[in-house]
Amino acid sequence: MKRDMKIAIVGAGLGGATAAACLQQAGFDARVYEQAVAFERIGGGIHVSANVLKVLRYIGAEQRLADLGIHPDAFTSRKWDTGEILFELPLGATGLAQYGASYLTAHRGDLHRSILERVEAGSISFGKRVERVAHSGGKAHLYLSDGGEIEADIVIGADGVNSKVREAIIGIRKPRFTGAIAHRGIFPAKLLNGLEVRNCTKWWGPKSHILIYYIEKSREEIYFVTSAKEEWTSSASWEYCTNAEVLRAFEGFHAEVREVIAAAPEVTKWPIFEVEPMDTWNSGPLVLLGDACHATTPYMASGAAMAIEDATVLARCLQATNDPISAIASYEATRMPRVKRVQEVSRENSFLRTPMDPNWVFGYDAAKVPLVAA
Ligand SMILES: Cc1cc2nc3c(=O)[nH]c(=O)nc-3n(C[C@H](O)[C@H](O)[C@H](O)COP(=O)(O)OP(=O)(O)OC[C@H]3O[C@@H](n4cnc5c(N)ncnc54)[C@H](O)[C@@H]3O)c2cc1C
Repeated sequence: MKRDMKIAIVGAGLGGATAAACLQQAGFDARVYEQAVAFERIGGGIHVSANVLKVLRYIGAEQRLADLGIHPDAFTSRKWDTGEILFELPLGATGLAQYGASYLTAHRGDLHRSILERVEAGSISFGKRVERVAHSGGKAHLYLSDGGEIEADIVIGADGVNSKVREAIIGIRKPRFTGAIAHRGIFPAKLLNGLEVRNCTKWWGPKSHILIYYIEKSREEIYFVTSAKEEWTSSASWEYCTNAEVLRAFEGFHAEVREVIAAAPEVTKWPIFEVEPMDTWNSGPLVLLGDACHATTPYMASGAAMAIEDATVLARCLQATNDPISAIASYEATRMPRVKRVQEVSRENSFLRTPMDPNWVFGYDAAKVPLVAA
């Protein structure tokens, strides 16, 4: 690919920032347009599995995050009421030997910052909301809400579940509400008043589950995220809720779970959406990655992982050929089967519940996987 091509990335989330870092390290002129005026350390925890850590290694961010996040010794699955251990997947040194990288749980903001630090200074324009995207004569155009217009040779839509770039490719397709919401609480672990909690546990109930894990090396901050059936009619992307509401949804769960929920000074709830699988992720010089083309349930903790892998593979495909159209076709052919499988398994919500080999997820290396010829 000619390195003098202009690449515009819409969205500097986890996927867009990774795309910028990968493309820039390969010598491309890649610029990012982000609607937020700045990023803050908010959100919650995130699982940074071995497949993500290998991408962080590729862009030089692995050590930075390893200094902040925590390496759980195991991922433990427990039965919701009795606490019986259903499965324990060894991580730490065993995970490193098995999957080629370790496994971290971290603050989502710390993961984001570690990636953003690998993006060239000044190449992200904040406060730039893309309202409309079009292409003609091999050139792509972004129309911004401030009246600005950007021309580029390639536009990468990393603009999340309500993507404007997707709209330009397939028209309006509303993401599907799954009928479940996620409660999230993040707070200083000292509020647990000495309650002993394992590093990383998923408690499996009949219709709901809760993950509880530390997100800092020092174990100073703890996080929980649930999934529970609940309607969502609000147009907001999240809302506050009370501990009592979460405790009601987790009635009968093990005392440890209920104590953790009760200790959270603030809890929020988030609707869970999916973007149904699409036949194509591109149109001419426009191409999608991450939640924009395959937002998935968070039940495998793999949505961000898929966005980060997409970004890496797309950048490698663009490096591998001088023809952007065949590069994009190769990207789709390489990524679609994996993303489809992750979406399906995630929807089933069975991953790591009982003994299994997760190597097909964690063993993947987006920086090395063979690129499928289109
Ligand atoms: C409760 C919950 C828990 C989760 N836990 C995990 C986990 O543990 N591990 C994991 O891998 N995944 C997890 N996920 C999924 C993960 O958060 C997403 O898959 C991931 O954030 C997708 O990244 P992205 O870059 O594609 O999109 P986003 O992170 O949504 O980023 C999109 C970016 O584009 C910007 N943008 C949007 N529209 C425009 C526009 N018009 N113009 C300019 N900029 C725009 C946004 O401001 C944003 O910065 C979880 C999701 C949920 C809901």
